[in-house]
Amino acid sequence: MADTLFTNVRILDGTGQMPYTGSVLVQGNRIRQVGRSTAPISPGGATVIDGAGATLMPGMTEAHTHFSWNDAATLAGIQTMPLEEHVLWCAKVAKRYLEAGWTSCVGAACAKPRLDVVIRNAINAGQIPGPRYLAASQEITVLGGLGDETLSHLPFPEFSFGVNVSSADEMRKAVRLFLKYGVDSIKLNLSGDNFTPDSPAETTWMTDAEVEAAMHEVRIRGKRGTAHARSAASVKQALKHGIDVIYHASFSDTESLDMLEAAKDRVFVAPGIAILYAMLHEAEAYGITNAKAQAMGYQIEWDAAIESLKAMHKRGIRVLPGGDYGFAFTPHCQNARDLEFFVKYLGFTPMEAIRSATFYGGQIMMKPNELGLVKDGFLADLLLVDGDPLANVAILRDPKRLLAVMKDGVFAKSPEIAAQRRWERAA
Ligand SMILES: [Zn+2]
Repeated sequence: MADTLFTNVRILDGTGQMPYTGSVLVQGNRIRQVGRSTAPISPGGATVIDGAGATLMPGMTEAHTHFSWNDAATLAGIQTMPLEEHVLWCAKVAKRYLEAGWTSCVGAACAKPRLDVVIRNAINAGQIPGPRYLAASQEITVLGGLGDETLSHLPFPEFSFGVNVSSADEMRKAVRLFLKYGVDSIKLNLSGDNFTPDSPAETTWMTDAEVEAAMHEVRIRGKRGTAHARSAASVKQALKHGIDVIYHASFSDTESLDMLEAAKDRVFVAPGIAILYAMLHEAEAYGITNAKAQAMGYQIEWDAAIESLKAMHKRGIRVLPGGDYGFAFTPHCQNARDLEFFVKYLGFTPMEAIRSATFYGGQIMMKPNELGLVKDGFLADLLLVDGDPLANVAILRDPKRLLAVMKDGVFAKSPEIAAQRRWERAA
């Protein structure tokens, strides 16, 4: 592994301090030295990349990722993709995420039992390029809830997006099976979802006995529980049972906010608000007009989610970007749009939005002391960005502005050779 010295870069280090000009030395897979321009770092044998004033920042973490969502408009459209094609799809998407600057992703459910585990293992073994990845189970749901796509005349599990359970015993069996497959997290659909008919987002479906059975198995194996929880009651249920990652959390009440705040050093919220916005304003080509989206309850949910998430941010609860990209109306690799939404709708400063994607990202990846900052000793996951993301976070979703992506000390996207030569001549 060649060592790399980035010189003449504006270092946006993820700590919250304003960027400063300097150099960063990467040795092996770690950042070994971060220096201001007043104290140049000797390159030794390292390859020198002259950043020419570009921004060097930590790689981003997508906190709510579904590689196996295949940009279809329906859950059935995702689920009915044959397994062989589906594996190839996930591998292709994983590579695209990494090249788009997402050096870490938290799997939030996959569409077939082992898709996430197989992709994570292939990435870790170096068989395919992809982000650091935490593999999820399929969604576990209850009959008629979000993810139950079985039909009365086709009651086969293969037709269902999630795994349906109807008792604590069935839950235990499902969870044990996914743990056997080697998942990092178990995903429970605690609330309804406006996407599914007759399953409003404000309703809460799973029994405490079912959730407790799941979390008992999760704890025994030292794994993590995650929850689809749009209703206030489901957020409280997740917290009560020790679930660490809460997806959506659209609806809140004072009690749920107090509980979240009390658990803020443990829990993460990854709302995925882009899909709410897209359903309301951008899904007409797929038959979902604004009027239809409103009838489905999306305007009520959007309004509630904005208020809830603003309140969480004010209370210091960790709210992270990412979520539910991979539908036709929220295609993969537009994920950095969440940072724009956080700034525009949730009251984040650009610095806070970037920190939630980087510093909190290292925390949700369970590597709080070695991932998510440009800091001596941290893992070398770095982005070289043309421009100032603090002035305009939107540049983070423009591939042309991402000059280079490094994961674990290796370029996933290399700076252009021509540009490097130009820089070398200039030097
Ligand atoms: Zn999701």
